[in-house]
Amino acid sequence: MRFLQNHPQVLESIYLLSLKILGLFRSRLKPGSRFERFLIPAERLTKGAVFDCRMCGQCVLHSTGMTCPMTCPKNLRNGPCGGVRPNGHCEVVPDMPCVWVQAWERSGKMPRFGSEILHVLPPLSYDREGSSAWVNHFSEGAKAGPHWKQ
Ligand code: SF4
Repeated sequence: MRFLQNHPQVLESIYLLSLKILGLFRSRLKPGSRFERFLIPAERLTKGAVFDCRMCGQCVLHSTGMTCPMTCPKNLRNGPCGGVRPNGHCEVVPDMPCVWVQAWERSGKMPRFGSEILHVLPPLSYDREGSSAWVNHFSEGAKAGPHWKQ
């Protein structure tokens, strides 16, 4: 799946398509709904395989170069800590490339949402953990990213 992540422009197109298709059902995408019960395992399976998704419920992949910030050992959602190694790897897990170095590089390949990496993201609400990020996206009051209004 690393191949897909290194081609974030493809993932961006898939994201946009998903946004349009699921947008058709936005009135039914409510917390606790049948749709959410279907979407939770679907997200866990697909996003888990592609992004190593941790089901935070407030997906910001479009703002982070299609790189999941929750895979950062420190769960940083607004850029790297001060400990990035000279080779671009993580200070906590030396074999692992820094999630934020990857996010920055991949954002540069995303024509539509690439500049969103410059936006400051809101703090994480842990009460949404395990829920469907798509449902939260379309539900009133669930704001987790700068283009949440779409
Ligand atoms: S940001 Fe949250 S919902 Fe999106 S892939 Fe990462 S853990 Fe999953």
